[in-house]
Amino acid sequence: MNIHEYQAKSILAKFGVPVPKSKIAFTPDEAEENSKEFLSGEGSVCVVKAQIHAGGRGKAGGVKLAKSRQQVREIASELLGKILVTHQTGPVGKEVKKILIEEGCAIEKEFYMSLVVDRSSHKVALMASREGGVEIEEVAARSPEKILKEFIDPATGLIPFQGRKIAFALGLDKSVINKAVSFMTKLYDAFVASDCAMLEINPLVLTKSGDLIALDAKLSFDDNALFRHKDIEGMRDLDEEDPKEIEASRYSLNYVSLDGSIGCMVNGAGLAMATMDIIQLCGGSPANFLDVGGGATKEQVTAAFKILVSDPRVKTILVNIFGGIMRCDIIAEGIIAAAKEVGLKVPLVVRLQGTNVDKGRELLATSGLNIITAEKMDEAAQKAVNAAKKA
Ligand code: ADP
Ligand code: MG
Repeated sequence: MNIHEYQAKSILAKFGVPVPKSKIAFTPDEAEENSKEFLSGEGSVCVVKAQIHAGGRGKAGGVKLAKSRQQVREIASELLGKILVTHQTGPVGKEVKKILIEEGCAIEKEFYMSLVVDRSSHKVALMASREGGVEIEEVAARSPEKILKEFIDPATGLIPFQGRKIAFALGLDKSVINKAVSFMTKLYDAFVASDCAMLEINPLVLTKSGDLIALDAKLSFDDNALFRHKDIEGMRDLDEEDPKEIEASRYSLNYVSLDGSIGCMVNGAGLAMATMDIIQLCGGSPANFLDVGGGATKEQVTAAFKILVSDPRVKTILVNIFGGIMRCDIIAEGIIAAAKEVGLKVPLVVRLQGTNVDKGRELLATSGLNIITAEKMDEAAQKAVNAAKKA
């Protein structure tokens, strides 16, 4: 699960990570009102930041500096309701529904810092770079040696020595080394305590007055641990997610939207991956990954099928089920129930094998639905690809 910058900053602040003062706003009036506090001093500036689940806002015009309340109002009116297209949103962009009004920061230098679970070392990797504020993917591709890494042993946590090593390598002055180590330690604490999968501060800034501040923050969480963090779960913003994925998560289905034309319903993640591979091999492309799970109920199967049917990109549906714990008749019942409810306007290829297969096939055969059947997996994939091409 991902959250907005302002939410990420509120979590980090609880762990003592320095973040700029800021207030969220939903209307130009609120934006103007909230900026008062930051625009009181002589020459003070504030920053208006679009809150969407994507980075690259700065370059796309979603982060703007304002010197007066009137300017804040103007920027707010322009940004709210706007579709912001950044290199991370894809061409469709994302609508800005809230903005963060933040105190302006006098930046001396921008750095990059992040934490991520590194599966191969079984540790949390701390990464940092002098090349902050820019697209880190570019730095990683162009000059990977500019990204510093330390692997943190979960038994010890971040050892101060590791923090100092990074701080010196970033070229920080002696006077801020201790602040940097404390910053990294707090980041790591926040990461572990919140069950993050990824935490990114880009930029981490050194201010003109010699402080280190997280000027941007991106957090994503391990969904399997969300039950331990009701407060974080409450930060979920459904407006930012794919409606099909939201619907799937309501029924505990493992669904990932893709951009092909063959809708897949499969049981078991391994078989689902193999199904996507074989579709590609036959010259087609999957519209989604969907694992209905080992012991899915008729309701789950119905919900899954409805998601596929309602997707306008889906030109053919391929059901590939190997009934072990899952029973083929449950699958058939789910498909029939969903097809009755929402209609079936695209070809449906079904390959069923395993437990109760005869019962399942009979249910489908007598359902009146127009179904293309297949015995083998490659045969099913080929039939689905052919049908999608004709559509
Ligand atoms: P994004 O990563 O989506 O582009 P950021 O929050 O990183 O958005 O902002 C982009 C740039 O805007 C930063 O690299 C920084 O230079 C500037 N910026 C952001 N917030 C502030 C702030 N409070 N004060 C001064 N400059 C800021
Ligand atoms: Mg950023």
